[in-house]
Amino acid sequence: MNNNNLAAYYILDLDRTLFNTEKAMDVMRGVVALHDSNLASALAQRFEEYTLLGESFSVRDFIIENVGEEEMAKIEVKYHEVGLQQDLLHDGATELLAYIRAKDNTELGILTYGSPQGQTMKINAATGLEGIPFLVTSETFKGALIASWRQDDDLYHLPEELGGFITDSIVFVDDKPFSFKGLPIDIVGYLVDSGYDAGIQNIPVNVTIVKSLNEVITLEKARLA
Ligand SMILES: [Mg+2]
Repeated sequence: MNNNNLAAYYILDLDRTLFNTEKAMDVMRGVVALHDSNLASALAQRFEEYTLLGESFSVRDFIIENVGEEEMAKIEVKYHEVGLQQDLLHDGATELLAYIRAKDNTELGILTYGSPQGQTMKINAATGLEGIPFLVTSETFKGALIASWRQDDDLYHLPEELGGFITDSIVFVDDKPFSFKGLPIDIVGYLVDSGYDAGIQNIPVNVTIVKSLNEVITLEKARLA
């Protein structure tokens, strides 16, 4: 555990926040099509259905169910190779990461919902996310999870996966309204509008809706000025 108190910690969501999940799916579809074009179509269709429902879809698990672990390993190698040649980040992601990294005594990490292997696969194939600590969670309500990190000293003790830092200042960026459920009032939240707005009327008052990650930078600069 790192005992130095941080000035701030930024918790960033992966899918549809930093990561262009739709574009990455196109890449995966192309890679799978080399193996089996029907499976590629089925994959894309399933992804669309889940997206409409606002649900998280485990691409990796779906492919494994259809082709097995051994073929998936080959597909994953190819996906990694092709993915790294593309820009799989959303507009403003690189700028936001640079903005946070330029701050004194400030750290950042990715908090993502899903299967550990599937989410690790995405992060590893995304140029620009190298070296960022991440935690894959099965907790849908990330706000409640973050709340659980607050200890008796009223400070947030980040899990070891996110660096084990201690801070009283957290900024949380995510694209799903339900991710903010249970978020403590002293945390600054930004909901990046990804078009899925079920539950948007219930977001806590400390969460601001933004159109892009660039807007997060603008609002952070204003907040901290
Ligand atoms: Mg997301």
